[in-house]
Amino acid sequence: MGAPGFTGSPLDRVDHIRNDGDAFNALLNDWRGRVLGLDGLDPQVSAEGRLVWQSLADVALDLDLILLGLHEERPHFVPIHSGQGGAPRSPAVWRALATLPAEEAAIYGTARSLIDWHNGHRFCGQCGGPTKTFRAGWGRKCDDCGKEHFPRTDPVVIMLAEYAGRVLIGRQSAWPAGNYSALAGFLEPGESVEEAVRREIFEEAGVRCGAVRYVTSQPWPFGGSQLMIACIAQAESDILNIDTKELEDARWVSRDEVRAALEDAPNKSFGAPPPFAIANTLFRRWVAES
Ligand SMILES: [Zn+2]
Repeated sequence: MGAPGFTGSPLDRVDHIRNDGDAFNALLNDWRGRVLGLDGLDPQVSAEGRLVWQSLADVALDLDLILLGLHEERPHFVPIHSGQGGAPRSPAVWRALATLPAEEAAIYGTARSLIDWHNGHRFCGQCGGPTKTFRAGWGRKCDDCGKEHFPRTDPVVIMLAEYAGRVLIGRQSAWPAGNYSALAGFLEPGESVEEAVRREIFEEAGVRCGAVRYVTSQPWPFGGSQLMIACIAQAESDILNIDTKELEDARWVSRDEVRAALEDAPNKSFGAPPPFAIANTLFRRWVAES
């Protein structure tokens, strides 16, 4: 069973070095250091479909570098590019993710999420003053009031409702024709994972659910930094009342239909999400339960 996309980074995050200025400076001067090559927020990809790394000597001295971590004692960095925040995911990223090895996609996802966070936190949310990076790029500190800000991830539930051996899938009108996925939505303040799963399924498809079980999770580096929490919920009926503002369509599918979609079979009844999306993992886990 494949691990979810954007997981499995080989880097040691070395949290203890982030607060140790001398140790961090030593890594900034380590000749083995590598710096991730990016085009804006997109990864640079080699002819072999791998991430592109530069040596520390090749990058400008005044660049703000985030310490992504160590691998076999070798420091790995990514520069903070200002003004690139919120770029929509591009076809170039999708193409890159089709070829990047899983562990490299995980490194890229971490880097992208962090850069995106820095770009959105150049000013203090408490007093409006300018902020500067600290903790080796794993935080920002306000020049004026001293408040420390740390990278956040937003929890998102993504789930299948299950009823009588079938699961509920949906599609948004912006997606390529025929593509369906699991329903999803952001957790709101004051909600548990289970409550968010039940609320989202009811809001989007009009289906009440009972028991909710956790399946797996993945970090998702697009549109900020999200933690996708994949669940399966037991539906109390299969009668749909679709919110057409959220979904263009929703329907119930069998394990055979999900299997055919995952295999991209000629007779498939819908197009499945790509392997690096957790909905794909969720479909695979559900199919394997039979
Ligand atoms: Zn401040």
